[in-house]
Amino acid sequence: MAGKIREINANEYREAVLDQKLAVLDFYSTECPPCEALAAKFEPLSEIYGDDVAFVKIFRQGNRELATELGVTGSPTLLFYRNGEIVGDKLSGGIKRSEIMKNLDALVGDQRAEEIKAGIEPVETDADVVILGGGPAGLTAGVYLAQARLKTVLVDIALPGGYVATTHQVSNYPGFIEPQNGMMLSHYMSEQAKENGVEFRAAVEVNSVDLDKKTVKIDGFETIRGKRLLIATGSRPRPLGIPGELEFRGDGISYCATCDAKYFDDKDVIVIGGGNSAIEEALFISKFAKSITIIHQFEELQANKVAQEKIFADKKVNFLFSHEPREFKRYGTMDMGVVAEDLKTGEQKEIRGHGVFVFIGFIANLEGLDNLDLDQWGYITTDAEMRTNIDGVYAAGDIKSKMYRQITTAVNDGTVAAISISKELSE
Ligand SMILES: Cc1cc2nc3c(=O)[nH]c(=O)nc-3n(C[C@H](O)[C@H](O)[C@H](O)COP(=O)(O)OP(=O)(O)OC[C@H]3O[C@@H](n4cnc5c(N)ncnc54)[C@H](O)[C@@H]3O)c2cc1C
Repeated sequence: MAGKIREINANEYREAVLDQKLAVLDFYSTECPPCEALAAKFEPLSEIYGDDVAFVKIFRQGNRELATELGVTGSPTLLFYRNGEIVGDKLSGGIKRSEIMKNLDALVGDQRAEEIKAGIEPVETDADVVILGGGPAGLTAGVYLAQARLKTVLVDIALPGGYVATTHQVSNYPGFIEPQNGMMLSHYMSEQAKENGVEFRAAVEVNSVDLDKKTVKIDGFETIRGKRLLIATGSRPRPLGIPGELEFRGDGISYCATCDAKYFDDKDVIVIGGGNSAIEEALFISKFAKSITIIHQFEELQANKVAQEKIFADKKVNFLFSHEPREFKRYGTMDMGVVAEDLKTGEQKEIRGHGVFVFIGFIANLEGLDNLDLDQWGYITTDAEMRTNIDGVYAAGDIKSKMYRQITTAVNDGTVAAISISKELSE
């Protein structure tokens, strides 16, 4: 086994973990992308901390009883031990290197942590192309670039898949007769990129990006240098920016129905927005909620006609047109209030519910990416071959200035960018 990791079964748990002074235990599964992303960090960290901490891994499905006993319900899950006691955070999902190091540092103590960290060698990786972002645009570009025999490293701050991974059902991606589960569709895309040879750096921290030098520093120790750099970082939900939003974000206010609708079973929900995403998400929330009130600033919905027909036919849904939210309020631990202003009369009224979903558009993920030419909405402008104003830097997918943001258009951009990069590098 690579690194200083020992693989055990449940009957070795006492000796390999509980009897050690310090230990970290990884419950992993097979066919588990977050487990693979963790393995790429766990092994190097075992080389760094392995003299002080016992690094142990155990196959969760093969040792279910122990997993249940320890309250481990998903893979990967990391548990940290001091003298046989679980201490620190229980980490699971897309685990970042910094989160593991924080817990390992706490195990070994401040002074020893400083000594260990002083010995960490920086790593420099040369690539033909560095891709920032592993949604459909970045993954598609990765497939084409790797098939062109270009060394391609794809960096993502989360697990690859982008928005598709959190989309409940995708019914408009060509090649599938039935609607596809977004998580599976994005899984196939990232597996295809991996099979073709794209190197992943998933769930990492991006410390800095130098677009002129085409270098990306990640996790505090690795610098990846490309001959070309492709930005495919997508966008994120736009906040309303009104009082109460920051305070109740993730605690009454959500921006992702796939993630949170299940918590509103038989509850009254308020949805803000009237475009495609808002209405498609409201239709999904309707599978759970008792009632939905849609607050929209215009007199009619902006969503496509099919979605409109479905939402108007849904008996659970009420509409409040020509109103804009002005403030979020909270009553007790469950109830939320939205103060909405009638844009015609200026009158304000309060709508009460158990939770609020906000779908009012998106903003570009441009943090740390400087000196790029942007359009009036803050998206990167490119030429027809996806070149930005910075030499050797390309942009593809939702991050770039364009009319329509869909999986198919992101796939298109990724394809065009990859082919033009391949041509440029072969000349
Ligand atoms: C709720 C919802 C439902 C949708 N449903 C559909 C649908 O049914 N059909 C359809 O065609 N389209 C749909 N879309 C639109 C579609 O998902 C997007 O157009 C598409 O995912 C864009 O792909 P992308 O690769 O450009 O960006 P994204 O999918 O957003 O991926 C961007 C990736 O970049 C990563 N990233 C962000 N910042 C950084 C950084 N600084 N460094 C490194 N990585 C970074 C993110 O973690 C992410 O993995 C939907 C969108 C939403 C929000």
